[in-house]
Amino acid sequence: MTHISQGFDFLGHTIRKYQHQDTLLGKIQITPSKLSVQSIKAKIKSICQSSGQLTQAQLIGRLNPVLRGWANYQRHHISGKSFSEIDSFVWFRLMRWAKRRHPEKSGAWIAKRYFTRSSSCAWTFMDKVSGKSLIQMTYDIQTFRHIKIMGAANPFDVEWNEYFHNREKMLKMKSVGNYIGNILKQQDGKCPHCLQLIQSEDKHHLHYIDGDKTHKRIKNVVILHKTCKSSFNYINEKHVTGAFNDLDVSHA
Ligand SMILES: [Zn+2]
Repeated sequence: MTHISQGFDFLGHTIRKYQHQDTLLGKIQITPSKLSVQSIKAKIKSICQSSGQLTQAQLIGRLNPVLRGWANYQRHHISGKSFSEIDSFVWFRLMRWAKRRHPEKSGAWIAKRYFTRSSSCAWTFMDKVSGKSLIQMTYDIQTFRHIKIMGAANPFDVEWNEYFHNREKMLKMKSVGNYIGNILKQQDGKCPHCLQLIQSEDKHHLHYIDGDKTHKRIKNVVILHKTCKSSFNYINEKHVTGAFNDLDVSHA
């Protein structure tokens, strides 16, 4: 049996009780466990190493769900230290990934080609063609904390999900151009088949409601996940109108 002051690991978190010297008041601290940090690092490393042939956007598409999932799981015990440790680790793996692709180029060249300065001045791994960028734990969590401080009305989970939801919605819209962006806007970024968000790394499919591909007005088009496309052939105009009745369609 371990004493709680030594701490123990539980479901990816380390739980430890600290006792204040003078007051003898205890404080429980929960942080991401060493093992959990190690396991996400191993995952990042193996993704980077096996993605030598992928484009930058594809690599981002593989890494983001992993980073998001981990941050999401650890979000109750926001640990700036673990998050910045993972950010630095990701940076190092990405530099290795880029160096392997361009062995002759300098670090400065690589930085210019694959990274960009975000508004927070942090270097962001961003594909300049699609606008897709890699999640940065530290930055995204700070942004989230800020949102949480700004409006504390909703429970934690709801705000967190909403934050990532909006970030994804924005990323997808930014990566697809105006026309598709407007179609996504009229369906609130969601796939009308499964009602889940169409994320920036998801492949999408344009479905023409009247079946005529030359009728390109946005009212005649819905966007589906590519994987939802085959099961969506039953749709008719009535169905779509019904599904979007309660959405704010600002392009009427
Ligand atoms: Zn779908």
